[in-house]
Amino acid sequence: MAPVAPSYGSCEVVVYSPRHVASMATIGLRRIRHLVAVWAHRTQALGALDGIDYVFIFENRGEAIGVTLHHPHDQIYAYPMLPPVLAAEANAAREHRAARDECLWCALVEAERTDGRRVVFQTRHWQAVVPFFARWPYEVQLSPLRHVGWLHELSRAEVEDLARCLKASVLKYDGLFGFPLPYIMALHQRPTDGGEHDAFHLHFETYPPHRTAHKLKYLAGSEAGAGVFINDTLPEETAATLRAAGPADPTDLTGEDDSVTESVGGVTESGGA
Ligand SMILES: [Zn+2]
Ligand SMILES: [Zn+2]
Repeated sequence: MAPVAPSYGSCEVVVYSPRHVASMATIGLRRIRHLVAVWAHRTQALGALDGIDYVFIFENRGEAIGVTLHHPHDQIYAYPMLPPVLAAEANAAREHRAARDECLWCALVEAERTDGRRVVFQTRHWQAVVPFFARWPYEVQLSPLRHVGWLHELSRAEVEDLARCLKASVLKYDGLFGFPLPYIMALHQRPTDGGEHDAFHLHFETYPPHRTAHKLKYLAGSEAGAGVFINDTLPEETAATLRAAGPADPTDLTGEDDSVTESVGGVTESGGA
């Protein structure tokens, strides 16, 4: 048999709200800032543990994703190794910096700002785009304009702006087809494996599986068997659709406290743990 290592790591669940029906779209900006603070704190605490090479924070929302625990929440996994997606990104960051003496993401953010067609919104501190390499029709990457590797390095102004951007992103998703859009949100920060990762630029990636209101994208032969995503939508078009859905400018969002009416957020009351 192949050699194996002992299993090691942890999984934590962060509950968004005491309300069973709520979501990033309906909880207040203050609560979202608290979530960001929790993510930052847990990244530092878990990342400092011996043998934890990566702290991965993600949210699965909606039954189309396979969610069985419907209360709004995200998860924090501490891995004893660098996961393959992050290893590929860390390598790309290092190689790009060595070849061009610039950050790959800083260069992408600037290129998208200049081009404009795939930008969903840009605020003072953050930019949301449908990347030109999007694997999912409504995939969105949300990146800080400043070169930052971990959440705990963000300034207060960047966190305040981030809370509005996260809320605006989900409001846009919910406005797309008129129901709470299922999605996976992944936070990509620098690894905690002690390696050289100064070139890595933190960002959020969000993948909704919906192609249309009634059609889902499945991981079929090419995706599951070869690791090659086939996407039949143009990022310029889906970005334009997302620009038109929901709030135009996250900067205008108000509402420090949770919405009184929570009809647009979260998931159905059915189901349990
Ligand atoms: Zn950068
Ligand atoms: Zn990434």
